[in-house]
Amino acid sequence: MNANIFATFEAIAREAGDAAFLETDDSQVISYARMLASTARYAHALVSLGVRPGDRVAVQVDKSARNYCLYLATLRMGAIYLPLNTAYRADELAYFLADAQPRVFVCEPADFAPRSELARAHGVAHVMTLTEEGGGTLDRLADAQPETFDTAQVAGDDVALIIYTSGTTGRPKGAMLTHAGLLSNGLALTKLWGFGRNDVLLHALPLFHAHGLFISGHCALLSGSRLLFLKKFNAQQVLSLLPRATVMMGVPTFYTRLLDEPGFTAARSTNMRLFVSGSAPLLADTNRDFQQRTGQIVLERYGMTESAIITSNPLVGERRIGCVGQAIDGVEVRIADDHDQLLPVDRIGGIQIRGSGVMKGYWRKPEKTAEEFTADGWFRTGDQGIRSSDGYLTIVGRAKDLVISGGYNVYPKEVEMAIDALAGVAESAVIGIPDRDFGEAVTAVVVRQDPGLTGEQIIQALKGRMANYKVPKQVHFVPELPRNAMGKVMKSTLRETYAGPLTLA
Ligand code: AMP
Repeated sequence: MNANIFATFEAIAREAGDAAFLETDDSQVISYARMLASTARYAHALVSLGVRPGDRVAVQVDKSARNYCLYLATLRMGAIYLPLNTAYRADELAYFLADAQPRVFVCEPADFAPRSELARAHGVAHVMTLTEEGGGTLDRLADAQPETFDTAQVAGDDVALIIYTSGTTGRPKGAMLTHAGLLSNGLALTKLWGFGRNDVLLHALPLFHAHGLFISGHCALLSGSRLLFLKKFNAQQVLSLLPRATVMMGVPTFYTRLLDEPGFTAARSTNMRLFVSGSAPLLADTNRDFQQRTGQIVLERYGMTESAIITSNPLVGERRIGCVGQAIDGVEVRIADDHDQLLPVDRIGGIQIRGSGVMKGYWRKPEKTAEEFTADGWFRTGDQGIRSSDGYLTIVGRAKDLVISGGYNVYPKEVEMAIDALAGVAESAVIGIPDRDFGEAVTAVVVRQDPGLTGEQIIQALKGRMANYKVPKQVHFVPELPRNAMGKVMKSTLRETYAGPLTLA
């Protein structure tokens, strides 16, 4: 039997045949049969570029049906897909290219010239372009290829995907996810969330993050259901599509934005059997408002790049607001103290996990991998939690200093280093402030050398250097940063001081 996850998708797609797989915002419908043909063509195109099983294919393009077919084609031919956030700038990309050493880098045509120079400097063999309409160099190469392809034989623990995730040190690490891990996680979710052929999944998440790329997408592929593929989340558009959809997966920001729409009512949602939230904490108040408005409770689940989904509230049974539910099939969860000793229920400790969905390790970082796993094979998530006697998990905080804004992880260290490098800045601390829309808003507290330096100048300077979601929403100036006896900046004090309504910098 072939452990390639695409072999399972393929068997389901053959049965689904002309049924719709994916519908774009401009009403193009791609059937399962067309998806098979398209992935065959892209797989041949990659092979013709010399890509072999195990090679990395790095992709930084806008969300589109072709982008999704390229992802599936990479799995199909046994290479490793490496999604890159479209907001990444040259400095950020240079690190990923140097670390992952992809054979091919796929970008938007408008980025071709600068990306080619960067890729050449890092020894990437081919820079290709892909567009939604199909005019890119990779698209044209694919268009000339056959519509059938023998799906590559892989072993279950072969790597299918590398997704970069940062650490507190600000150096991103590539989480290696395997074919068997993705398949077992996907099958468990499809069953748990009751996916079937008649489902229509509203997909408004980006494709460069686990949530949009495989957590939601694989549920459709493993059940033969239809994806309504929106380029990005737009509350008005989502409202207009709800009567045709049955399931939506989103980050908490999607739900607060929907609640801001007076047109979001129970009547609009009658066709919807399930709303799922994850990637960041969903405020209990938001879920209560949601229940009042629609009569439904958003199903909250917990996952991370390193392991896909870990726990989930049930489809049928008690959805406990403020909890992320119970361990899903194939995953074990335990709460441990700082010495990796098991804690009893109702005690707060580090959340540790073990199971088939957990990553194989960090790409070419065996020491980092060893640091994050216990001696008996449990992965330390870095999240703090508490478990009830009936196995419901509540996340109470993060051991990591991570800020999650709009579902995206922002590592303060990286932003602090960029601010500290600006002229007129002595030092800085970056924190997350509770924000109804973003969950947390990135906020900088800065000690300046130049009294004339403004918050707006700092924000503008950072915008050219890093993805927008990392740029602080506001900047506060202080004469000095509060520090504890060990000299460590007391971020909790800063968080308390600056929590409050968002003001302009
Ligand atoms: P990422 O790797 O980008 O998916 O981020 C993973 C982190 O997001 C986890 O380690 C948690 O800190 C956080 N997270 C994911 N889902 C939830 C949730 N439902 N509630 C609270 N935090 C969450």
